[in-house]
Amino acid sequence: MSAKILDGNALAKAIRAGLARDAAAFQAAAGRPPGLSVILVGEDPASAVYVGHKEKAAREAGFASAVVRLPATASEAEVLDRIAAMAADRAVDGMLVQLPLPKQVDPLAVQRAIPPAKDVDGFHPVNAGMLLLGQKGGFVPCTPLGVMALLDEAEIPLKGAEAVVVGRSTIVGKPVAQLLLDRHATVTIAHSRTRDLAAVCRRADVLVAAAGVPGLVRGAFVKPGAAVIDVGINRITDAAQAEDLLAGQPERLEKFRKNGHALVGDVHFGEAAAAAGWITPVPGGVGPLTVALLLRNTLEGARRTEGLPA
Ligand code: NDP
Repeated sequence: MSAKILDGNALAKAIRAGLARDAAAFQAAAGRPPGLSVILVGEDPASAVYVGHKEKAAREAGFASAVVRLPATASEAEVLDRIAAMAADRAVDGMLVQLPLPKQVDPLAVQRAIPPAKDVDGFHPVNAGMLLLGQKGGFVPCTPLGVMALLDEAEIPLKGAEAVVVGRSTIVGKPVAQLLLDRHATVTIAHSRTRDLAAVCRRADVLVAAAGVPGLVRGAFVKPGAAVIDVGINRITDAAQAEDLLAGQPERLEKFRKNGHALVGDVHFGEAAAAAGWITPVPGGVGPLTVALLLRNTLEGARRTEGLPA
């Protein structure tokens, strides 16, 4: 393996330690901690784990944190009622509704109901619009911020670089592409209809994979020396797929054989690491930064509410 590992756990830990100090300073100035509240609808196990991580990280950094749990049968009106109550609560600086939602609840209605000033996920049309327009003062989605934090920590040059983002979702692909464009990269967004994805990816000095397809990006997709950021988090249970995607990672393969499941990214790590200059692991790459930057957004919102400097 030639690539340097971009260690998301280490960077997230450093960011969270800084936030704990900043949260204490905020509390001293405002007389209350910054507050993050989450609504979780239903019992999706992955969502429960993500919400648990957010709650724990918030508490550890000295934030006030609350989770409202609603049954999977909750109506859209019930969810909107809870959102309205949270929106009116002065102790809540940042709020979000964990996705995915049960089918009777429209995620767009939910995103529009959260006031933009408390929308720390950055999914409200006002915040998405501010990002597109290059206006300061909105919230930028946390996973794209995590991608940029990893690139910046390793001082990977972006100005004039060829960047390829695989995936065009509104929560990852599009905002990542916008942030790279803002930093003067030449950005291509690839998606499921892109012709010859391998050739498009091979142009990239910076390759961001956010497709939700295990091991989509193979070694032959990677330009030698490129920075490869793998946003994908995919749970695999198929043995043949695990033997392929975890090749060269004997300890992880052994664990798979024991447990019958593993988390992998959208990049074939072993193959890509042989060609790349930098690469993120999964788990331990972008994932931990998403939570740390959610807290950073919340603290930013709290400071704005209290009229304190950023
Ligand atoms: P979506 O399913 O919303 O979007 C996936 C995108 O990938 C779509 O634009 C789709 O194209 C494209 N795509 C799918 N298959 C292919 C293919 N074969 N070739 C090229 N492009 C393809 O996913 P998300 O953006 O929400 O998430 C992407 C991944 O990131 C998932 O694994 C998710 O779990 C992970 N994730 C990780 C987070 C973290 O904290 N690290 C946070 C959020 C997500 P099209 O538009 O044409 O359908």
